[in-house]
Amino acid sequence: MSPKRDYYEVLGVNRNAPESDLKTTYRKLALKYHPDRNPGDKEAEEKFKEAAEAYEVLRDPKKRQIYDQYGHQGLEGSGFSGFGGFEDIFSSFSDIFEDFFGFGTGRRSRSSAQRGADLRYDLTLSFMEAAFGTETEINIEKREVCPSCKGTACEPGTAPETCGSCHGSGQVTRSQGFFTVRTTCPTCRGRGQMISHPCSKCRGAAQVLKDKKVSVKIPAGVDNGSRLRLTGEGEAGAYGGPTGDLYVFIQVEPHDFFSRDGSEILCQVEISFVQAALGDKISVPTLNGKKTLEIPKGAQPGDVFRFRGEGIPSLRNRSRGDQIIQVLIKTPTSLTRKQEAILKEFAKLESNKISNKLKDILKGRSESAAG
Ligand SMILES: [Zn+2]
Ligand SMILES: [Zn+2]
Repeated sequence: MSPKRDYYEVLGVNRNAPESDLKTTYRKLALKYHPDRNPGDKEAEEKFKEAAEAYEVLRDPKKRQIYDQYGHQGLEGSGFSGFGGFEDIFSSFSDIFEDFFGFGTGRRSRSSAQRGADLRYDLTLSFMEAAFGTETEINIEKREVCPSCKGTACEPGTAPETCGSCHGSGQVTRSQGFFTVRTTCPTCRGRGQMISHPCSKCRGAAQVLKDKKVSVKIPAGVDNGSRLRLTGEGEAGAYGGPTGDLYVFIQVEPHDFFSRDGSEILCQVEISFVQAALGDKISVPTLNGKKTLEIPKGAQPGDVFRFRGEGIPSLRNRSRGDQIIQVLIKTPTSLTRKQEAILKEFAKLESNKISNKLKDILKGRSESAAG
C-alpha cells in the first residue's frame, strides 16, 4: 500500500487555509469522484475516500492540530481510523451531499427501498378443472400504495421535512475524545425525514389494505402441489421498492371414478365372470365421454388395458398421458334356480376336465418313470 498523502495536498489547499476553503475544495472533489458518477472506478473510489478523510481531519480543529504537529502517526495514536465505507462518508458529510442532490445523502432512496411481500393463495380445483385448465378470479387482501398520498405518507399538499436531529442522514454522531460513534437517529429512526402531517387515509403508512380480484389462468394438467407465480401481484414495495409476487398453490379434489398418476388417468371397471370368460365389449367413461373397451376371452382379475392419449396433458411438453383401465371380476351373490343348475352342470364338466388333466399328468409320470 502506498503511504498516505499529505491531507493539505489531497485537498489542494495551503496549510493556513480557513475551514470555509476546505469545504469548498472538498465539495468539488467529492462531486468529481462521487461513486454514483464513477460506477466501478476503483481509482475514483480511492480518491473519494482520500478526500473525505482529509476533510474529516482538517475541518476538526483538534484533529487538525494533532495532524499539524505529529502527522498521520499522531492521528493513528489518537484513535482516528478514517472511514469504513461510503455510507460512513455520506452520513458524516450529509450537509455537503444534501446540496448536491437536494435531499439527504442522495442514496437513501435506493438503499432503503424494500420489495413488497410475496403472497400465497391456496386454490382448490375440481379434477376436471385441473385436467382441462380453467380461468378463475380470486379475491386477495393485499397492501397497495395508498392512492391518496401516492406512497409518500404525507397528507396531500404537504411534504416531509428533513429531520432536525440528524439533518437527513439518518444517523447521529457523538464525539468521545477523538472517537466518533455513529448510531441510527432516534428521532426519525434512520429515515432522515419527519412527517408532521401524515396522510389521513393511510395514517402515514403509505400503504392501504385492499381487497383485490385477480384473474388466474390455470393451465391444463396442473396437479396437487403445483404452484403458479403471478409476477407483481403481491404486496406493494416500500420507499419505491418493487411489488412482490403472488403464488397460487393448487389443490385438486379427488374424483369418484378417476384417479391420477402424473399425466396418466387410472380407473377400475367391474365385469362379470361370464364377461371375463367369454370376452365382451364394454363402455368405459373417459375425460372426453364414453369409449368402447374390448375385453378379450379369458380376462383375469387385475388385468389392465390402456386407452392411448386419453389421459391428462403434461405441463412440460403438452403431450397427453394414457387412461389405464383395470378390470375387476364380480362373482354373483344371488343366482336363480336355472342359473345355479347351469353352473352345476358347468362345474361337472370342469371337474371332468380337471380329472382328465390329472390322469394325463399321472400317466405322463408313470411313462417317464418306465422310460
Ligand atoms: Zn396515504
Ligand atoms: Zn433523524
